[in-house]
Amino acid sequence: MNHQFHQTMFLAFLFFGIILTTTSAQEHSAKISAQGYAAMTAGRHFVPYEFERRAVGESDVLIEILYAGICHTDLHQVMEDWRKGIFPMVPGHEIVGRVAQTGKNVQSVKVGDYAGVGCMVHSCGECEQCRKHEEQYCPQTVWTYNSLDTNGTPSQGGYSDKIVVDENFVVKIPENVPLERIAPLFCAGITTYSPLRYNNVKAGDNVAVAGFGGLGDMAVQYAIAMGAKVTVFDVNESKRQSAMDLGAVKFVNVRNENELIGLNSSFDLMISTIPTRYDVGMYLRMLKVDGTVVLLGMPPGDQTPMIPAMSLMGRRKVYASLIGGMKETREMLEFSVRNKIYPHVEIIPIQKLDEAFQNLAEGKALFRYVIDMKSLDDKNRDL
Ligand code: NDP
Ligand code: ZN
Repeated sequence: MNHQFHQTMFLAFLFFGIILTTTSAQEHSAKISAQGYAAMTAGRHFVPYEFERRAVGESDVLIEILYAGICHTDLHQVMEDWRKGIFPMVPGHEIVGRVAQTGKNVQSVKVGDYAGVGCMVHSCGECEQCRKHEEQYCPQTVWTYNSLDTNGTPSQGGYSDKIVVDENFVVKIPENVPLERIAPLFCAGITTYSPLRYNNVKAGDNVAVAGFGGLGDMAVQYAIAMGAKVTVFDVNESKRQSAMDLGAVKFVNVRNENELIGLNSSFDLMISTIPTRYDVGMYLRMLKVDGTVVLLGMPPGDQTPMIPAMSLMGRRKVYASLIGGMKETREMLEFSVRNKIYPHVEIIPIQKLDEAFQNLAEGKALFRYVIDMKSLDDKNRDL
């Protein structure tokens, strides 16, 4: 009896042992090894980092990343400006690449297509916001990095060689477009396009754009393409010429008080992308009656601007807007390509990340840095 019991137990262990080994071997082999650059702790320092992407599921797309934009949000995230970060952190949510593999249910892209990914990689798909195609406001959104995926593992972003993403959050990119300039559209593009559309900007409207960096560059171009007369506000005199070259009617250097005179009650809509503390009341007073200030820039928690109630007089409104939904992202890409609206970019190798972040923090960046992911293979490049 005792002998028989032991024999049965032995066979049972052997059986389950074989099953467990086979399953974990399959799971292991199906996972995808990736390499990129990560911040290991809070701060602006990046190091080469190897990690695993999940196996390509039935509705997933594997993308080999070609370019990734550097958004000011990436700087806020590694600096923990808004909340505690999840480290090691591979930032990057302005991603373009080539489709390398698709799950069996994927229909919108095929192997070899160019595709883009922005700030989100998952939402519940069922709530009111998802049904309205505003997945960014779904309570269960998984962000491209610094977020927990549905299986509880940290999501990792685009400063890397590959990414696995649910098809619903992948956008097909047409052939023959400047891919390195398409990447920033997946955050800077959609974030500015969305509020301009929401506010029905039309020919003749007076629109102001405050903060003329990565997002501001896109806001100015979209608003002009929609027929608006655009005034640009920034602190950097060297950007005056770029604003006028794009077709702005006026550039205001906010550091020069004389340039601020006579601007009150002028604008229908103001898009603010300013990432630090500033006087929102000053901009609210520049609105016409019923005008709106849209806050896109998100200063660190301890630099949140105060809004004097008096500056809202005249039914002036202020609200904050977060990127845009996937349907609108596809519309934005189509609009950008049709009107040839692309950001000003500076291409950098990934080894220059620390320097790029330093420049961004010090206001020395000119519009958008974009990482050329080919540089990942360049192990001998000077740091
Ligand atoms: P950039 O750094 O590229 O651009 C910011 C611009 O604002 C720079 O030109 C900067 O000048 C200028 N600026 C700084 N202070 C002032 C000021 N007081 N008045 C006028 N201009 C000023 O950043 P991004 O465009 O990438 O991002 C901007 C903000 O938007 C960030 O806070 C980011 O997190 C947020 N964001 C929000 C999103 C959303 O969905 N709401 C999505 C993406 C980004 P200088 O360079 O000289 O400092
Ligand atoms: Zn961004």
